[in-house]
Amino acid sequence: MTRPTRNKQWVLAKRPHGMISEANWQLKETAVPPLADGEALVQTLYLSCDPTMRGWMEDRPSYLPPVGIGEVMRAGSIGRVIESRSPLVAVGDHVEGMAGWQQYSVIKPGTPFGGTKLPKETDPLLLMGVLGITGLTAYFGLLDLGQPKAGETVVVSGAAGATGSIAGQIARIQGCKVIGIAGGPDKCAWLTKEARFDAAIDYKRGDVGAQLRELAPQGVDVYFDNVGGEILDAVLEQIRLKARVVLCGGISAYNEVAPPPGPRNLMKLVIQRARMEGFIIIDYAARFGEARAKLKSWVDSGELVHQEDVVAGIENAPAALLRLFSGKNLGKQLVKVS
Ligand code: NDP
Repeated sequence: MTRPTRNKQWVLAKRPHGMISEANWQLKETAVPPLADGEALVQTLYLSCDPTMRGWMEDRPSYLPPVGIGEVMRAGSIGRVIESRSPLVAVGDHVEGMAGWQQYSVIKPGTPFGGTKLPKETDPLLLMGVLGITGLTAYFGLLDLGQPKAGETVVVSGAAGATGSIAGQIARIQGCKVIGIAGGPDKCAWLTKEARFDAAIDYKRGDVGAQLRELAPQGVDVYFDNVGGEILDAVLEQIRLKARVVLCGGISAYNEVAPPPGPRNLMKLVIQRARMEGFIIIDYAARFGEARAKLKSWVDSGELVHQEDVVAGIENAPAALLRLFSGKNLGKQLVKVS
């Protein structure tokens, strides 16, 4: 292909206050820069949409520094090398990295976040979802922290999303009874029919606690929490002795101006001698290979189904991210850039 000259990119224009909107970013066009030794030029294929990106927009300390005003919005990506002055990647290679919201990026393989070569034979869609960060998060969060045992009852919130759908299915593969919590009848039907959860609770119908009591009268052994807030409280109310509560995320509060109070039912951890623990997936990086092999074997055998929700065009990156917070996505939300 001829070398591109112009690069469309979304930069952070203003920090959010409450719910994010497209006005938080600005679409710009810049020149594609020349390469220095050790660098490569990558054409973005897919961008990952992740709820944590909302946190990166805030000017506050976290596990990664905030995105600066005027900087390209950070996002996980898979791209194709179209020019290389690095010995580590060649033209045509697929790389994963943090290209951000832009059509082309200059990477420096071998440096932190500098881009890592991927096996070209594996579908990038799989590598962005079930074999990507969300699949790995489900794998380590559920198995390492949740430690589910056959016959136990596992509850997953955000269950029809990228992480939750995989976490619930891994629990099913371990021989557990799995109950998913998701918004709306269509997502609940997908959970029981396609992902083969034992049951699904539509939290938008109200009273999660009553629905859960009916489905799991003995209580909950493992809770994989993606949402926090009222739903976390409702499940905490019903944990069993020695339960494990895995704090993966708390999307219900990501767009709140101030953190809401709660949870109210923490004493349940004391009474039931239970454990509640958070984690960040990047700490498991050294074990990604092992987890990917296992996840791939479940995908190949048909035990693990996966769903991607793809929006086309770099122009639609903000709209795609917003889908996570309105619950429009089913499975892994992606942007197909080229
Ligand atoms: P999802 O694909 O699950 O998309 C987000 C989903 O959250 C939506 O589809 C929506 O589903 C649900 N949601 C949105 N707003 C609310 C709300 N107010 N209350 C309840 N549910 C809501 O995203 P991911 O799989 O990428 O992420 C899921 C969670 O995992 C997030 O909390 C994220 O931060 C966390 N995470 C944590 C990681 C870690 O290292 N700890 C790594 C990756 C992700 P619905 O229609 O059902 O409401």
